[in-house]
Amino acid sequence: MQSYSIKTLLEKGKEVALQEVSIHGWVRSFRSNRFIALNDGSCLKTIQVVVDFDKFDEELIQQITTAASLQVVGEVVESQGKGQEIEIVAKDIKVLGVAASEEVQGTILQPKAHSLEKLREQAHLRFRTNLFGAVMRVRNALMFAIHQYFNELDFVYINTPIITGSDAEGAGEMFHVTNFDLDNLPRTEDGKVDYSQDFFGKATNLTVSGQLEGEAAAMGLGKIYTFGPTFRAENSNTSRHLAEFWMIEPEMAFYNLDQNMDLAEDFLKYVIQYAKDKCPDDLAFLAERYAKEQSQKPADERSELGLMDRLDYVLNNRFIRLSYTEAIDILKNSKPNKKGKFKYPVDGWGVDLQSEHERYLVEKHFKTPVILFDYPQEIKAFYMRLNEDGKTVRAMDVLFPGIGEIIGGSQREERLDVLDERIKQFGIDQEEIWWYRDTRRFGTVPHSGFGLGLERLVLFVTGMGNIRDVIPFPRTPNNAEF
Ligand code: ATP
Ligand code: MN
Repeated sequence: MQSYSIKTLLEKGKEVALQEVSIHGWVRSFRSNRFIALNDGSCLKTIQVVVDFDKFDEELIQQITTAASLQVVGEVVESQGKGQEIEIVAKDIKVLGVAASEEVQGTILQPKAHSLEKLREQAHLRFRTNLFGAVMRVRNALMFAIHQYFNELDFVYINTPIITGSDAEGAGEMFHVTNFDLDNLPRTEDGKVDYSQDFFGKATNLTVSGQLEGEAAAMGLGKIYTFGPTFRAENSNTSRHLAEFWMIEPEMAFYNLDQNMDLAEDFLKYVIQYAKDKCPDDLAFLAERYAKEQSQKPADERSELGLMDRLDYVLNNRFIRLSYTEAIDILKNSKPNKKGKFKYPVDGWGVDLQSEHERYLVEKHFKTPVILFDYPQEIKAFYMRLNEDGKTVRAMDVLFPGIGEIIGGSQREERLDVLDERIKQFGIDQEEIWWYRDTRRFGTVPHSGFGLGLERLVLFVTGMGNIRDVIPFPRTPNNAEF
């Protein structure tokens, strides 16, 4: 007898009619002591199991409650009812794990609407819900597509360290890694913590980016990408920041900034298209949720596009490419700026752009994704390539509707003398990153790369509003429960 996932079984449909099959899953509902809706996480849908209760023990029937886990053996038949092509007439039912109704009552497993906050509080159970199931399957499809995309283009997947000895990455506040007894720290003569006695013989941190090591790899392998966890002690508590998130960082030797932008755009379109092709049911479900959520918002905050339209608008439009200087002009003269509607007014060249500005450009002004480039050197990292004007660097940020920055990248400074000047300006110790400087000493080449935050991408594709709802177990300030 063949064992199937519910997804495969439903895909086969009538092809398997009259066969005896075995399936496993969790009870979503048991209607009229006759119809079990069974889900196994392989897809959004449930399969209907028809139970002739005369043929089963009363005791067994009573154990078939919401959330219980079952193995069902039965015959596939064409369904009499609406809404499904096939169903299973049960011959044998094994209750693998019971779920006491009184206990299920207090949890998100109870089949009714629950708030996203409540789902987060029971993050260990939310994999069972339609919503979180759909988000996780889309996330999975995106991750797979990311690997496939780079693999097709002959990028080498490399792993950069999670524990880093350099604090020059400069992308955010870092978490310390130590095996010191914190109640009894070794001190140097002048009273500072003596890191020479720590595990690695120096102070170490969790990485905020694999880029610097990625650059070293690209200087031999040509085109590489990393895909791993990154950690930032951001105390910002926004709906777009996590303390632990997954980042994809391609780095390409012999690429200039234009090629970098081309790659970023092509890459985003590829993975979004893949998710659309692979997860039509999950996305349809998420689109419905998105529409409902939007309809409850005040008119001026409401998105003009539905979820699927928003995906298509990214797929079908060329991303606008705009210099920072041009963006500042647009923002300075924009209605919200003149009317004092921005929380951070745009008063001149040199200011850092906030998410409200990024979203204005994308959602109101251009109504298409935007790639901003050539930012003032003061507001960007030391490794970005200095332009001829001596004021701007070859940075690029890809801005998306509803999200703001989804990708940050740059062409890197490959000229050692210029790099050293920047290292000095930023007050970084040359010795600390001697190995990074070495990559410019032995056959340096123009090169570029970028970082995509996986969860920002998942936010965009699923239409979810809070980044905590697109990662299995979110890490944010005051929250590391699971
Ligand atoms: P932001 O200005 O939004 O904080 P950033 O400039 O700090 O972003 P980068 O250092 O360029 O971001 O990191 C590259 C990408 O990583 C960003 O474009 C974003 O997609 C993602 N990212 C950055 N910080 C976080 C975070 N705390 N949580 C989730 N994703 C993040
Ligand atoms: Mn940041």
